[in-house]
Amino acid sequence: MAIHVKNLNYYYGDFPALKNVTFSVATGNFFIIIGPNGSGKTTLLKVMAGILKSQTDQLEILNRPVDHYSRKALARTIAFVPQMIPVDFPFSVTEIVLMGRSPYLGMLGLEQEKDLEIAKQALTFTGVEHLAHRKLDQLSGGEQQRVFVAKAICQEPEIILLDEPTASLDLAHQVRLMDLMEKLKNERGITVVMVSHDVNLAAMYGDRLLLLDKGEIVNLGAPKEVLTFQTLEQVYGCTLLVDESPLGNSPRVTPVPRKYMT
Ligand code: ADP
Ligand code: MG
Repeated sequence: MAIHVKNLNYYYGDFPALKNVTFSVATGNFFIIIGPNGSGKTTLLKVMAGILKSQTDQLEILNRPVDHYSRKALARTIAFVPQMIPVDFPFSVTEIVLMGRSPYLGMLGLEQEKDLEIAKQALTFTGVEHLAHRKLDQLSGGEQQRVFVAKAICQEPEIILLDEPTASLDLAHQVRLMDLMEKLKNERGITVVMVSHDVNLAAMYGDRLLLLDKGEIVNLGAPKEVLTFQTLEQVYGCTLLVDESPLGNSPRVTPVPRKYMT
């Protein structure tokens, strides 16, 4: 198992953001967490990344309790790509990507030739090598997103966690990013855990989907099992059509505008 979460409860003050959440992510899976706004997706991802700590959970990463990892060891295992990319971040693309090497550097924190090579490869992999010398604030949202994905790849993790990485991307870049994650999974055996609120992308790429609502697991399984009409209407509270994608083999969800209802 790449990740095992057992009986997880997470409170902000006395507000329960996650309630008794138990599930596993198999190694090498593309695992996508979906659910309405405020359902606890980001909180769950941050707990999995070791950024938020709950008192009640048992979290295992690669079959070892998370407390058994040093910070560096955890950073060599899991990379986290946050949803909000810091706006005021005065670094060049190369500098940012090289930050992904910090869990591997010695006491002096100096990069070796090998680290520079890995950084270069990560930039090529995400298609932003031509931006290497640019400053982050001179890039578009989509380019910034790919730079942070390159940083995560540079970390050479076994698991990569991403919070709504396609939210600010146009259609072409959405598919490119999802294809990139699929490639990481297929070519490097990396486990990809992504939060998305795009159920159609989730249906096309996810091996397994976890549907959260109000901090609880509603459904967990293959896209066809999770994205059913009954479940989605209940969770999202709106009228939907669910049929098969024209590409076949995955469900397609269409929200129905009011003017089409009789
Ligand atoms: P999602 O990512 O699914 O939109 P979040 O995990 O961000 O949901 O939030 C889950 C719930 O926890 C929401 O009701 C949100 O308002 C609340 N919440 C998130 N962060 C905080 C915080 N720092 N303090 C208090 N409440 C929070
Ligand atoms: Mg969120």
